[in-house]
Amino acid sequence: MIVVKVGGSAGIDYDAVCADLAARVQAGERFVLVHGGSGETNRIAEALGHPPRFVTSPSGYTSRFTDRQTLEIFEMVYCGKMNKGIVERLQRHGVNAVGLSGLDGRIFEGRHKDSVRAVENGKVKVLRGDHTGTVERVNTHLIELLLDSGYLPVLTPPAASYEGVAINVDGDRAAAALATALHADALLLLSNVPGLLRAYPDERSLIPRIPAHDVEAYLEFAQDRMKKKVLGAAEAVAGGVRRVIFGDARAGQPISAALAGQGTVVE
Ligand code: ADP
Repeated sequence: MIVVKVGGSAGIDYDAVCADLAARVQAGERFVLVHGGSGETNRIAEALGHPPRFVTSPSGYTSRFTDRQTLEIFEMVYCGKMNKGIVERLQRHGVNAVGLSGLDGRIFEGRHKDSVRAVENGKVKVLRGDHTGTVERVNTHLIELLLDSGYLPVLTPPAASYEGVAINVDGDRAAAALATALHADALLLLSNVPGLLRAYPDERSLIPRIPAHDVEAYLEFAQDRMKKKVLGAAEAVAGGVRRVIFGDARAGQPISAALAGQGTVVE
C-alpha cells in the first residue's frame, strides 16, 4: 500500500501524475491519493473578492487563516474543481476513482482550533474565527471498503472536527496520518520542486537522502510551507512508515520516479 500526496502549487502536472498512477493501479498495486489545491484556491479567492490571508505562527509555520467564507471557497476548489478534475483524469485512464473529502465518512478527524496566534508587524496577535485543525484520527473503514471493492480513493481536506464542523487541515500531515493508519509501505509527497533543497530555490542543492531518525534536523532547510512536509515525513516515519519520498510532480512519471529513488528519500 502506497499513499501519494500531490500538492496544489503552480507547475504540478496532474495529467502526468494520473497517467502514472493509473498504470501502476492497473498493474495491481494498491494506492490512495491525497491532493491539495492551494494555488487554485488563492486564484479563485482573489477572483471572488475574498483574497487569502496567510498567517505565520510565533514558531514560524505559515497557514491559511480560514474564516467561514474562506472555508466555503476552499471546499469549492479542493472538493469540487481539484478533486473532480483528478477523478475525471483517472476515469479517462480506466481507473474507477472515488473522490471524497475528510468530512465524508469522517475519514479525517481532528480538533477544531478556533483561534490562531499570528505574528503581524512584529507583534503576536490572537485571531479568532479560524476553521482549522490537525488530523488526529483517521477512520480507515470506508477507505478499506473502497479499496477492497476495486475503487481508488482520492482524498482531500477539509477534515471533520469531533463536533462535525469542517476544518482546514494540512494535506501533507493528513497524508502522513493516513499512511500511518493504513500501515503504508511508502508515503510520497509530490510537489513542484525536485525534493528538499538545502539552499532553496537552487535545484542543484537537492538533499538525496535523510536518515529516518534524523528528519526533524532537516527542518532548518525548509522554509514556509515546506516545513509541513518535513514535519509530515517525521510523523509518518515515527508512525512506522518505512519510506517517505519528497518527489517532483512537474513532468514525466512522478510516482515511478519517486519510487525509484529520485527526489529526497527519508528512510
Ligand atoms: P504543495 O502545495 O505542492 O504541497 P507547498 O507549496 O505547500 O507544496 O510546498 C512546496 C513549496 O515549498 C515549494 O514550491 C517551495 O516554494 C517551498 N520551499 C521552501 N523551502 C524549500 C526547500 N528547502 N526545498 C524545497 N522547497 C522549499
